[in-house]
Amino acid sequence: MSLQAVRPKILGFISEQASAWLVALVVLLGGCTLTTIVAWAASDLDQQQERQRFQLLVNERFSRLQERFEDQEQRLGSLRRFFVNSDEVSREEFEGFAQPLLQRARAYAWAPRVSRDQRKLFEQQVSRQRGTPFNIRELNANGELAPAAERDEYVPVLYSQTLSLLVSPLGFDLLAQPLRRSALERAQKSGKLAVSQPMQLVGLEPAYATGVLLVAPVTAHGATEPHGFVMAVISMRQLVAEGLPRPDRDNLAMQIVDTSDLQQRLLYESGSARVDSDLSAVRRLTLGDHVYALSLRPSEMFEQANHSSLALILAMGGLLSLLLSALLYVLVSQRQRALKLVQQSTMQLRAREQELRGAHGQLRSVLNAATQVAIIATDLRGVINTFNAGAEQMLGFKAEQVLGRSTLESLHVPAELEARATSLSVALGKRIPPSQAMLVESPDSQHEASEWTLVRENGSQLTVNMLGTVLLDDHGLWVGYLAIYLDVTEQKRAYEALAARDRLLKKLSAHVPGGIFQFTLEPQDNWRFIYASDGMRDIYEIETGMLQQDAKKVFERIHPLDVERVRASIRLSALQLSHWREEYRVQLPQRGLRWIRGEATPEELPAGGTLWHGYVSDITDLKRVEEELRTLSITDSLTGIHNRRYFQDRLKTEMLRLNRTAGALSVIMLDIDHFKRINDQHGHGVGDGVLQELCKRIGQRLRRTDVFCRLGGEEFMVLCPNTDGEQAYRLAMELWQSLRSAPMEPVGIVTASFGVASWRVDEGVDGLLLRADSAVYVAKQAGRDRVAAEEVQA
Ligand code: GH3
Ligand code: MG
Ligand code: MG
Repeated sequence: MSLQAVRPKILGFISEQASAWLVALVVLLGGCTLTTIVAWAASDLDQQQERQRFQLLVNERFSRLQERFEDQEQRLGSLRRFFVNSDEVSREEFEGFAQPLLQRARAYAWAPRVSRDQRKLFEQQVSRQRGTPFNIRELNANGELAPAAERDEYVPVLYSQTLSLLVSPLGFDLLAQPLRRSALERAQKSGKLAVSQPMQLVGLEPAYATGVLLVAPVTAHGATEPHGFVMAVISMRQLVAEGLPRPDRDNLAMQIVDTSDLQQRLLYESGSARVDSDLSAVRRLTLGDHVYALSLRPSEMFEQANHSSLALILAMGGLLSLLLSALLYVLVSQRQRALKLVQQSTMQLRAREQELRGAHGQLRSVLNAATQVAIIATDLRGVINTFNAGAEQMLGFKAEQVLGRSTLESLHVPAELEARATSLSVALGKRIPPSQAMLVESPDSQHEASEWTLVRENGSQLTVNMLGTVLLDDHGLWVGYLAIYLDVTEQKRAYEALAARDRLLKKLSAHVPGGIFQFTLEPQDNWRFIYASDGMRDIYEIETGMLQQDAKKVFERIHPLDVERVRASIRLSALQLSHWREEYRVQLPQRGLRWIRGEATPEELPAGGTLWHGYVSDITDLKRVEEELRTLSITDSLTGIHNRRYFQDRLKTEMLRLNRTAGALSVIMLDIDHFKRINDQHGHGVGDGVLQELCKRIGQRLRRTDVFCRLGGEEFMVLCPNTDGEQAYRLAMELWQSLRSAPMEPVGIVTASFGVASWRVDEGVDGLLLRADSAVYVAKQAGRDRVAAEEVQA
């Protein structure tokens, strides 16, 4: 399933590809839009509710005020009826009746009609009744009450019941003032309640001073003209405001205007602050014959109480949108990060899987490339599940023939398995089935390949080395076995051939005199015997094992005078790759001094160093024979003294020495006199005896350094190193004497002629010998039996 096939959705609906910022922005915009719509709807609803609430307040306020107005009319009406129905109303009666009526009216008053004629009497009558002077009065120019001017008629206030603490304006003539007069006239005319124009009331606290007079005519039964007026002094403030919430608490701002007032003056205005609003209401209030316009508007208080939730909704909605978009941004970006991580992990896993697949392929290739090795894996029951090309080649089975069908056991020789199982069972102390025998490690061989016999498809057998191991899975659990077989048939054959060669070599070397060796000189001056036959032990009296360890032991055996030469010759052979041949002495613990000859052929080792194959043999006997032969070659066989060859060699040597260092050399030559005769007379054998006797006598007389030689026949020579002519002459004389002093049986006295010659500087061998020979000749010529010194050169 490809990754593209299923495109994950964040929160179920947002594509994972979408930018977190975009999502957050869309949500924010959506939220804001929604908030705006809600706010708009809420504001509309708010306005409706506000309007309804305002209407309710207005209705309630209007009905309350209307009720109050009507109540005032009724109260004044009842006072009027009280006066109509009473003949005479005393002051006390008035006060008793009016007192309970005083509600929302500043005062009630009774003012009778008094004509000009009745004025005096009336004033006197009232003064008497009250006990204080009473005058009908009016406001003068200074605004003070003063006795009223002469008029046809007066309507003075007689009784007054008021809540005010101020003194009632008793005697005040209502007709003296136009507004009051107008109200009275209208009441008188209509016979009904009449209301004055708004006016400044007299005898009231300034706060309550604005108001109206509600006037009702009192007409006695049967009369046509009223005989007085009852009136209520109504302060608008008291009538309207009392019992209502304080202005700063009132939801409504009120204004009352008398509709009949052309100037539209405010009769009452509540102190409530008015606010700009499209809400307003106007109602008609009636009092007496006046109609008042009550205009109502919402107050600040109302605005506050009905504060619009718009801002709150906008703020909350905006905040919520912001929070939601932030939350979504976080969620989406986190989710995207998580998805990216998942994608990365998936890619890594896929790469790993690819690697594993590659590795698996490689492993299989390796398994099959290992054609010389049979690699067979089985499950836990032993059933084969891997059979590589090497196994096919080695055993002749095809992989299809055995995979899942055959067991490892079936490839082995049953008898061998049984025998191994039995021995393993004994060794391990538990029963090992034959089918497992090849996989169980023997306790005495650790991780070593063991040798087994396998059966090929064609029934033939082959010997193999097997390495068995357990296969574990990732969790360390056994999942099967792995067996690796190596065909060792050839190896075994080669090994046996090698062993036979070894034996042969051993036998041969045992029969060869001396020792055979392989010797290396490695770059780091490492002297080593790779191979040393048993003969080497006899040559050096060192065990072969020791020789292989440390070749230097040999040099300890070599004679000190020879050891350096031997070393040098070995090094030279290595350097020049020249055949090494050396004869040297060894000093052996048991056999003493022996002569050894060694010979070896060097070859260069690929890694540096030199390898020699060679032999050493004991040549002590040979050396002795050689010595004997050499002695023989320089010895005269008849007389036993040195022969001519030796003399010549020795003379050359001495001459060479003289050429190097200064010194003397002399020779004494002698020739037996008439020897022929002796032979002739006594036979050759006697002659030989004479020769022997002569040598004996002469030899006894010679010094150790003198060399006595027989030159041939009956001629002899004495070589005298470090001897000058004189000394040689004396010696020759001694020799001559010793010879002739005693007879030789059976010959009698034997004499000889002596010649002496000494070496001269820059002289060769021949010159010296010639002079010696000449001296002998001279002695012969002179009569024989004498010593002749050499001729001194003139
Ligand atoms: P002269 O005094 O002049 O030296 O006389 P001579 O006879 O000694 O001289 P000559 O040189 O003529 O003779 C030497 C003889 O020595 C000849 C030879 O037969 C004999 N002779 C040489 N060698 C041997 C030998 O080995 N044994 C014996 N018995 N005789 C030898
Ligand atoms: Mg002679
Ligand atoms: Mg002679």
